Amino acid sequence: MESGVCECPVCGRPKVESGKYCEYHSRAMDNLKSAFEHWKQALGIRWEDYLKRVQALDETGRWVKELIEYLIAEADS
Ligand SMILES: [Zn+2]
Repeated sequence: MESGVCECPVCGRPKVESGKYCEYHSRAMDNLKSAFEHWKQALGIRWEDYLKRVQALDETGRWVKELIEYLIAEADS
């Protein structure tokens, strides 16, 4: 990981000051994480499996899908 990078690793927009992503993908990450708590309790699902299932849903938003693509690619590398 490069240091001093000030762009969102998903889309290249400026990052929020305190975060790892831009404002859109930061919000997407918050949504993903809070929804995961429910999925985890209900289904006992792992994070990686959760990401793939959310990505396949029609109602998943564009920002969340972009973020998931990035997260999966990062996990595979
Ligand atoms: Zn972004």
